[in-house]
Amino acid sequence: MTRSISIFGATGSVGLSTLDLIRANRADYSVVALTANGNCDGLTRLAREFEPEIAVCADEKAYPALKEALADTTIETAAGEDALIDAAQRGADWTMAAIVGTAGLKPTLAAIEQGKTVALANKESLVSAGALMMAAVERSGATLLPVDSEHNAIFQCLQGGRLEQVRKITLTASGGPFREFSLEQMQTVTPEQAVAHPNWDMGAKISVDSATMMNKGLEFIEAHHLFPVGLDKLDILVHPQSVIHSMVEYADRSTLAQLGSPDMKIPIASTLAWPERVKTDCQPLDLATIGQLTFEAPDEKRFPAIRLARDAAAAGGARPAILNAANEIAVAAFLGGQIGFLEIAALADKVLEGYQPQTPESLAALFSIDAEARQYAQERVQEVA
Ligand code: NDP
Repeated sequence: MTRSISIFGATGSVGLSTLDLIRANRADYSVVALTANGNCDGLTRLAREFEPEIAVCADEKAYPALKEALADTTIETAAGEDALIDAAQRGADWTMAAIVGTAGLKPTLAAIEQGKTVALANKESLVSAGALMMAAVERSGATLLPVDSEHNAIFQCLQGGRLEQVRKITLTASGGPFREFSLEQMQTVTPEQAVAHPNWDMGAKISVDSATMMNKGLEFIEAHHLFPVGLDKLDILVHPQSVIHSMVEYADRSTLAQLGSPDMKIPIASTLAWPERVKTDCQPLDLATIGQLTFEAPDEKRFPAIRLARDAAAAGGARPAILNAANEIAVAAFLGGQIGFLEIAALADKVLEGYQPQTPESLAALFSIDAEARQYAQERVQEVA
């Protein structure tokens, strides 16, 4: 029997890795929806190969080209945010949520509401709307499987015990390309340097997040929602080799860790097959060649994003959404050459200080806070630029 799947963010790094795994076992899957933003050529190529029911581009400007490129096929085409939501509502058995940023929130929620399995890479949506999203999972009975390598590792380690037996969860962090840089050196780093991650091959935004360690901060908040053990039981440990993807310590002081080569296909494959296992063509873990695994505490002076995220998680309410929105604007401004690398976290800090709305009780309230935080952050970018 084939399994129906949809991939949101199909043209991105996680989307393409997912499709590599599907390609290897093509006959096992039927594809419902593939989506992109404006990369019409990439989406067209994938649609021709995987023959989804529907191909959707979020950017409406890309629609005429997409429609024309697939006119000789039976594949439906559509564009815009509502079309993404409609595609999610088609209710594939398994949906990969791999749009980058809060743009992924509505389609991810729509997929969750179908009560099927959702593999979640789009961490920003959980950071922004964690409580609302986890409530939707509870309500719909959906199975939410974490794709982020750290959370996937924790999820796997938790198969060895129960949440209430956990003493500590340790999220490991590579430390990014600037782990050994002084603040002075970090002042002049370029977007090209920031996106060149030493271990992982990822999209531009998450690569910059890894370089500032905001990625670990966002993952800290993500873990808080996925594995509610309490913030005092969540820890971050720098582990430059990215071999141990995270660890869970139990009450008896047994610690379980999940290890693997730094290849996103491994956690993605685990969500695709769960609760079974599938073969992948990923590199085996060769510990004798790696030789040494090292660890160090994160330096929150050089990487203040970790503290910002920890404080936002502790304060709750709108704080994580504001942090996430400000960071998205700041990263885009850094990639666009408008602000320096160190100004990313500084800008997020300023927005958190200057904009303090009430706790959002609904999705509409959350979106309005997200929009206001972006506007406020954009104004700060103009001041700095
Ligand atoms: P990429 O930038 O490589 O890909 C992003 C995808 O989202 C593309 O398909 C892009 O389409 C689409 N997209 C971008 N903007 C929008 C929008 N406004 N509306 C709809 N679709 C949009 O990102 P990654 O694959 O690296 O990351 C995806 C998510 O997974 C992120 O949340 C990231 O944090 C998370 N993640 C990524 C990991 C990785 O190794 N890459 C690891 C763990 C988590 P288009 O190509 O047309 O621009």
